[in-house]
Amino acid sequence: MSTLDVVDTTPDIPANVAAYAAGGGDSILVAGRRSGAAGGGVLPNVDPGTGREIGQIASGTEADVDRAVAAAGRAFDGGWRDLSPSARARCLFALADAVEGEADTLAALETLDNGKPLTESRYVDVPLAAEVLRYYAGWTTKFAGEVLPVSPLVGSAFAYTRHEPVGVVGAIVPWNFPLLLLSWKVGPALAAGNTMVVKPSELTSLTALRLAELATEAGIPPGVMNVVTGLGPEAGQALAEHPDVAKITFTGSTATGRTVLQASAGNLKRVTLELGGKSPNIVFADADLDQAVEGAFMGIFMNQGQVCCAGSRAYVDRRVHDAFVEKLATAAGTVQLGHGLAEGTDMGPLVSEDQRRRVLAYVSQGSAEGATLVCGGGPVGTEGFFVKPTVFTDVREDMTIAREEIFGPVLSVMAFDGEDEVVTRANRSRYGLAAGVWTRDVRRAHTVAAALQAGTVWVNTYNMIDPTSPFGGFKESGFGRDLGAEALKEYTSTKSVWVGLD
Ligand code: NDP
Repeated sequence: MSTLDVVDTTPDIPANVAAYAAGGGDSILVAGRRSGAAGGGVLPNVDPGTGREIGQIASGTEADVDRAVAAAGRAFDGGWRDLSPSARARCLFALADAVEGEADTLAALETLDNGKPLTESRYVDVPLAAEVLRYYAGWTTKFAGEVLPVSPLVGSAFAYTRHEPVGVVGAIVPWNFPLLLLSWKVGPALAAGNTMVVKPSELTSLTALRLAELATEAGIPPGVMNVVTGLGPEAGQALAEHPDVAKITFTGSTATGRTVLQASAGNLKRVTLELGGKSPNIVFADADLDQAVEGAFMGIFMNQGQVCCAGSRAYVDRRVHDAFVEKLATAAGTVQLGHGLAEGTDMGPLVSEDQRRRVLAYVSQGSAEGATLVCGGGPVGTEGFFVKPTVFTDVREDMTIAREEIFGPVLSVMAFDGEDEVVTRANRSRYGLAAGVWTRDVRRAHTVAAALQAGTVWVNTYNMIDPTSPFGGFKESGFGRDLGAEALKEYTSTKSVWVGLD
């Protein structure tokens, strides 16, 4: 079977999953209670594998955000902030267990909403989300301030720091990894003692809602985690502007990140932005070529290429360029497209018709600007939002497909001749989220990793993520870090306390 065929686009949807999606009209969750939007608005929720409506979600507006922020404020002052670290840990461990306990349902919900293959949601997104929650549960009892060795010139004193929660955190998350990226925010925010209002993407709200319900079931007090579904420019904007929100944590496009930053200026919120990328994946001639092809393939085609750190610019040493392209195109030709819930699907649809249109417009532009289309390129099937895995060669850096984030299964391959040259070319981007390096030369691995302007560099691997490893961007890929101990600092204010001893 080739990529021209799409496997079954209408598999059986588990009854509980279909029912949950159908009941999304009251998807606003404030202080533990679900409701519709104050204004009564609803938005269609579409299965990207079929293009058909599977339910509706509430279209929240400013009034809903106000209510949610007030509930989060009460939960903050009313006890969550002052709960003992071990009690907060127990809650987060229980939430991680609940996520694992409901892994099959959460994975099916995610696949139905986003389109990604069930194997990805069941064996990557959901278990990793549980791991992230567990990791931050562990931090609650270990995240301590310091005793400071202050100078005796100021007199005799004892000084120390405290890391205090900032208050109500607004989390605006995208549609590509709805549950997983939300766990990156929920883990450190709640571990540090904050409360939250979450605005999921209107395309993929179901797992955020279910996670907030599971939080209550896990013993996290109502109001600590609230969800307002709705449109970005309405519900999202109201959250970013809200004077009682102390911090916004955002993942999404660079353009929207800029809007969120401006909207946050009113009360000078703290903001962290995890934004787009155009990540270089550099294959040197001494690399294990099969391993590099496999890594490049996964780096661009996982999640249909809708990954912020997708390795969308492959720089390949000219001596191995043709062999690399041939192997990659052969592998792309074996990809089985299909509904995410269908047996045998390797790659699902894009998240929406809009996204497919956007990606196909980039493909047309690539051809029009003179790149060579090696494989893929078109839409597939009559139902759902499928795009074939696509590879371009003869790409120049001034072409649109080499510069802009496509956020689809489209790889631009470029040949290079030398180490310094490729580092300069790889860094010639306004983005700096991630990069890959494939080489057997240990000196080159470390010098190139140091020279690349990227928040994460993978050597002889790609897309590796762990709760311990900070993730975020250089340049216009954003600022602040998700994950690791660094993320905890993003959700706290440091206070210096002085005690005079004279
Ligand atoms: P956005 O960046 O617009 O969406 C991300 C989140 O921000 C969503 O929850 C969205 O809500 C919300 N949002 C949108 N507008 C506002 C606003 N004015 N104020 C506050 N929140 C807002 O991404 P899109 O979904 O529009 O995708 C467009 C492109 O963005 C993609 O093609 C891709 O290039 C890039 N992208 C990058 C991601 C990344 O991880 N780096 C993730 C997603 C997209 P809603 O979806 O309901 O509008």
